[in-house]
Amino acid sequence: PYVLTERGVLRCEQVTYPMEERGLQFGDGVYEVVSLYNGAYIWLQEHLDRLYRSAAAIRLSVPFAPEELSERLEQLRRMNDVHEDAILYLQVTRGSFPRNHAFPTENRPNLYAYIQPMARKTDEMTHGVRAILTKDVRWEYCYIKSLNLLPNVLAKQEAVERGAFEAILHRDGVVTEGSSSNMFLVKGETVYTHPATERILNGIVRTKVKQFCADLGIPLIEKAFSVHDIAEADELFLTSTTSAIIPIIQVDDTTIGNGQPGTVTKSLQAAYQKATQPATSN
Ligand code: PMP
Repeated sequence: PYVLTERGVLRCEQVTYPMEERGLQFGDGVYEVVSLYNGAYIWLQEHLDRLYRSAAAIRLSVPFAPEELSERLEQLRRMNDVHEDAILYLQVTRGSFPRNHAFPTENRPNLYAYIQPMARKTDEMTHGVRAILTKDVRWEYCYIKSLNLLPNVLAKQEAVERGAFEAILHRDGVVTEGSSSNMFLVKGETVYTHPATERILNGIVRTKVKQFCADLGIPLIEKAFSVHDIAEADELFLTSTTSAIIPIIQVDDTTIGNGQPGTVTKSLQAAYQKATQPATSN
């Protein structure tokens, strides 16, 4: 397999990093995850726009200009001969320098991006999943897709150990998002989700769900809901690049609605399917 680096596309074995790499030592970097369906990137431009926004927020420069990065990623896709469902992982760090918290004086960021096969979560999408509630202990700038994922890792592990698919994070009872997803609650005809403030990552699928709701005439309100609202919810679902739209049918010991994926969730899944359908391999 081939990897895109700041030096261009290299063979996987050629890519190594020194011990003193700022992503490893400080989590000093940002990243993106992009889906490929049948070998075609899904919403690549939206992901790249967010990458440059995240980088700017931590005063990091991305080694390639936007158009060049798109072209390089297309080259990477072709060289790996990707025709199946897959994901692209891409990260940019402030580089490799003698360990020191302060920025290096030289601007020499590291970038790597690789593509790996990834099956769609068909079973979870069809039948729904369980989730748990846990405290959101992250910092104040969750809108930056930074490499610092320790709170997310700990929350996800707690979910896994309790037999759940995802951890729903809350600050003083207000639901922000999932450990690696955005959260939506359906009550009556209306969909609610946390507004895209600094407290959440504004998911690419989240923004698409807003559009699907508008297209389908489903009212969507960007207003945070609480842990108490969950008990009264008709439907609950999560979104992310690797999960698409997945119904949540149980939270801790509370069954959501009738314990089955709901009609609003299913119509949004259908809209997602349709929006990503034309993607064919070339
Ligand atoms: N919130 C968090 C904390 C995430 O890690 C992710 C997945 N990267 C999301 C939301 C969903 O974002 P997206 O739809 O862009 O994958």
